[in-house]
Amino acid sequence: MRIGIDLGGTKIEGILIAPDGHQAARTRVPTPQGDYAATVQAVADLVCDLDDAAKTLGTEIPTVGIGIPGAISPTTGLVKNANSVCLIGEALDQDIAQAIGRDTRREVRLANDADCFAVSEAHDGAAAGERIVFGVILGTGVGGGIAIDGHPLSGPNAITGEWGHNPLPWPRDDERPGPKCYCGQHGCIETFLSGPGMRYDHYAEAGEQSEAVDIANKAAAGNADCIATMARYEQRLARALASVINVLDPHVIVLGGGLSNIERLYDNVPKLWDEWVFSDTVATKLVPNKHGDSSGVRGAAWLWD
Ligand SMILES: [Zn+2]
Repeated sequence: MRIGIDLGGTKIEGILIAPDGHQAARTRVPTPQGDYAATVQAVADLVCDLDDAAKTLGTEIPTVGIGIPGAISPTTGLVKNANSVCLIGEALDQDIAQAIGRDTRREVRLANDADCFAVSEAHDGAAAGERIVFGVILGTGVGGGIAIDGHPLSGPNAITGEWGHNPLPWPRDDERPGPKCYCGQHGCIETFLSGPGMRYDHYAEAGEQSEAVDIANKAAAGNADCIATMARYEQRLARALASVINVLDPHVIVLGGGLSNIERLYDNVPKLWDEWVFSDTVATKLVPNKHGDSSGVRGAAWLWD
């Protein structure tokens, strides 16, 4: 059996997956805010609860995979790039393994939450059985992960798929230098394609404060300003994804995060990206995720596939 944990900014979710792939148990707790030791203990407690659930089913000790909003630096072994800042600089995998402890130290596998999303969707989700999968998170931020044959692709910097802080490609003059990003640069993809990015763009062009999903709904109802904002967003998303297709050549791109619920993206963006993909035809598919909010926790469980 497999335990998957999704350590998020507001909640920690845990799942127990049976050998046949079905969910045998599920549990969640709020994330202790700004308290590293309490966070480690909360994750360990969740693992112990799911261990007990596995025991009642009479199986061996489950494996443990954890998705985090950051990455373990291969150089230092410590967490980096986490938006839950109390995790940064900590040996999170070691500390959790120790806290689970009991009799013997248990090896845990950690991965970035966007990588877990890609693994989940490649394993038994919207890209099931596909070889090269780019999983994209379009939400409060923009992230990405890559799964190859269902396994997370990881490199020496633990930043695979992190396209959100690349510049928006093929920028128009009015997109340069682009909005300032918290990472220190201007014009990052995230500043255009995140939910706040779309909101900012709509406000700058139409003078109206509106959430991304509301803009999409109003566009569907025929609002001209919202239609124009959606068209700009889709054109930018097409450019940003074309630059990924040119490097990775994925079979499938799966969208996750709040903006992945905007249905028109799946028809419109692939019609636009041909212009920038260096190929006579583009066979890459763009699809919505299958597992929604559960993808993170399911992908974490599949880290031990
Ligand atoms: Zn940035």
